[in-house]
Amino acid sequence: MALMTPEQFEASLKELKPRVFMNGKLVPDVLTNRNTRTVVEANKASYAWALDPKYRDIMTCFSPLVDEVVNRYTYVSGTTEDLVRKAEAGTFTAEMLGTCIYRCVGYDAFHALAATTWEMDRDLGTEYWSRFQEFLKNVQKKDLSVAGAMTEPRGSRSKKIENWPDPYLALKVVEKNDKGIVVRGAKINISGAYASHELMVLPQGAHSESEADYAVAFATPTDAPGITYVCQYSPYSAERDQADDLEELGNPVFGQRETAMVIFDNVFVPWERVFHCGEFKYSGRIVARFARTHRMTCGGTCKVGFMNQIIGASKLIQEYKGLEKVAHINEQITEMVVLRETGRACGQAAARQGKEEPPGSGVFLPDELMGNVAKLNICEAFWRVMALAGDIGGGLTVTMPSLKELKNPEIKDFVEEFYSFGSDEPTANILKVHKLLQHWTAGQHGVGTWHGAGPPATQRIAIQRTVDFEHEKGLVKRTLNL
Ligand SMILES: Cc1cc2nc3c(=O)[nH]c(=O)nc-3n(C[C@H](O)[C@H](O)[C@H](O)COP(=O)(O)OP(=O)(O)OC[C@H]3O[C@@H](n4cnc5c(N)ncnc54)[C@H](O)[C@@H]3O)c2cc1C
Repeated sequence: MALMTPEQFEASLKELKPRVFMNGKLVPDVLTNRNTRTVVEANKASYAWALDPKYRDIMTCFSPLVDEVVNRYTYVSGTTEDLVRKAEAGTFTAEMLGTCIYRCVGYDAFHALAATTWEMDRDLGTEYWSRFQEFLKNVQKKDLSVAGAMTEPRGSRSKKIENWPDPYLALKVVEKNDKGIVVRGAKINISGAYASHELMVLPQGAHSESEADYAVAFATPTDAPGITYVCQYSPYSAERDQADDLEELGNPVFGQRETAMVIFDNVFVPWERVFHCGEFKYSGRIVARFARTHRMTCGGTCKVGFMNQIIGASKLIQEYKGLEKVAHINEQITEMVVLRETGRACGQAAARQGKEEPPGSGVFLPDELMGNVAKLNICEAFWRVMALAGDIGGGLTVTMPSLKELKNPEIKDFVEEFYSFGSDEPTANILKVHKLLQHWTAGQHGVGTWHGAGPPATQRIAIQRTVDFEHEKGLVKRTLNL
């Protein structure tokens, strides 16, 4: 079986030496830094679940490509059933981690590249598909974690790339030789790459002929010479850095959501790892296929899992406060469940209505309309669920003291008494559940959910392109005998 154990995964990361900066300092080891460690733990869990008989069905599948059982996060969907399983895995991993599974963007990038390399080979006689298959075989056989990088810093959005004063605000091919290409530029907001083995790089937008040097997709080891990571750093990162005990934090093991800017300072990529280079007409298709897949994931699968964490915390607080029979609280929790299930339904519909794209490629992608509807729907639904949870949690969600006070002999007894709600639950547990809710409602997840897989305007544009309204207009004409 091509499955690594969690211990082998951790050992394999020790072999890598990514250049990582956080909070103004070099991170000498992503395995021991408290914030980067959360990414290691999240990816590591995906290896443990794949070997656990309880979760094997959801986390693994048979890959005809290597004739073995592989981790689902290394697999390209070949049927609608695969897409349904993919959606279920998105919810499962999110609700178990309470944060991202950092293999997700790479998984979705595989779908976009498998489809578009096949199409480029068919139309242009290139060899990208066979290269990509070889790369994917290696990923599956070695059970590698692969992150995905699309988003770029970009210059003025009202100007074309050629009119930007700095041509490297989008990732650019600066050299081509008989061995490979050299790229310069950066990708921003990239989830969990420094604790992955490989980074799958895609173009960010559609390109014109004058932008052919930006039409590039490739895979690179995450510690290739010239790659540097500049990590996000927030009050939550500082809190984790300074905590006496990680149990004080809202998500002790898996943390918030970790991203980094990835700088490519003249990074060499050998041809066998290049899957798109200069065929500018196909950049937009890679982006659209990635978006369609990733919007199902972000909209209709992982946020369903996140909502389960928020609903669970709200329910516990309702019980601690003795509010079980209060009508408006029960209505709020019912509303959360309805929003969660609407999200799940959109994700399921996107998967179940998925199709082979392009026909003949063997690659199944979620339904374009439903993938976009899933993401657009969840943007609003997630804020609403957070607002409802904030109401149930009360002010304590943001005014709670540090759990350290429970270890402070001078104040401990008062904190235990006055934050107990007079319930039998230990005050430490009550505060921990509020901390979890703080982590969701006052953390990075609102904006993260809004922008991850693209801001809502991009889904509206995709929906406007997908629906031509001929069916609807025809119905009216038929009804009126026009
Ligand atoms: C937690 C998190 C994790 C992420 N992980 C990844 C990852 O792993 N890999 C990856 O590639 N990306 C990742 N992203 C990036 C994500 O896809 C982008 O944040 C998203 O596409 C929005 O881009 P932006 O942040 O540059 O915002 P902007 O594009 O600057 O958007 C800000 C506003 O400007 C508007 N706007 C921008 N450009 C235009 C324009 N040309 N015309 C009209 N309106 C415009 C937008 O609609 C929006 O209203 C992640 C983001 C987050 C928050």
